[in-house]
Amino acid sequence: MAAAMDYELARERLTDFFQTFCVPDQNGDKTFIYADQIRQVANRVQTALYVYLDNLLQHDEELYNEVRKNSARYHQLTYDVIDKLVHNELRNAPPPVRDALDAFLYQRVYLEAQQRSADGADGNVQNDSRKKIPPKLLRRYEVYFVTPELDKCLAAREILAEHVGKLVTMRGIVIRCSEVMPHVNVVTYLCDTCGCEVYQEINGPQYAPTQACPSKDCQESRANGRLELQLRGSSFSKYQEIRVQEMSDQVPIGSIPRAMSVRVTGENTRLCQPGDSIKISGILLPQLRSGFKNQAGGLVADVFLDCHH
Ligand SMILES: [Zn+2]
Repeated sequence: MAAAMDYELARERLTDFFQTFCVPDQNGDKTFIYADQIRQVANRVQTALYVYLDNLLQHDEELYNEVRKNSARYHQLTYDVIDKLVHNELRNAPPPVRDALDAFLYQRVYLEAQQRSADGADGNVQNDSRKKIPPKLLRRYEVYFVTPELDKCLAAREILAEHVGKLVTMRGIVIRCSEVMPHVNVVTYLCDTCGCEVYQEINGPQYAPTQACPSKDCQESRANGRLELQLRGSSFSKYQEIRVQEMSDQVPIGSIPRAMSVRVTGENTRLCQPGDSIKISGILLPQLRSGFKNQAGGLVADVFLDCHH
């Protein structure tokens, strides 16, 4: 087996794909489909960016194979790459302000950088301001992978442990849809004593609120600054859980239909209803459980499909 591609090289090749992949339009001119969309994303006109793996296969087969082998990791790498491309797109312009969080980031990154450069600081001050803020808070878009047209469409019972971390295409009937709920990605707090801002990234389904101010000022003076949640500077996304069951043609005679839990986020929410027959691509992920439930679960881990398309 060939060694896995080095992630630095993978980032370069993903960047190349997004910048140079093009298709001819009706007039035979080149359309840079991803570069154009990244510009839209940077200007906050577009939120979801769908990456068609058919396109990647055509452009760079080796990279395509890496994405298939290690989809969850490559999803994160793709975010890193697009974060950079979006940042480059806005290098010489003030970032667009379309909602309260945009306004918050405009203030923290753009205006403070301008202030500091007016005060005579040198170097790339906008970069300095960005460094303090988690990338997840600056990220106002979503990236999804779309599996190739010819990918085998699996039934719930055909999705196995070997698919964990990988992209699969699945077919079934929606039997349950939850309400669309807000899911918090990053919480921003403000210290009532020293005024410093604290960011907390939320990766799992639960979080414990931070309470004591970690700033140097507060720690040294033992001021015990209290942190207050700042809704305006926090980032939320839409979140929905659906349950997809096998259709009768997928169930062997005498068997009971199996079902799979699917988590749907952002622009992919509210696209189906119970009774709909659907085809989904997504990454199979282990269910992270906390506390006692985890101990009871032992080695048997639940899985769910993180929906991409
Ligand atoms: Zn403080």
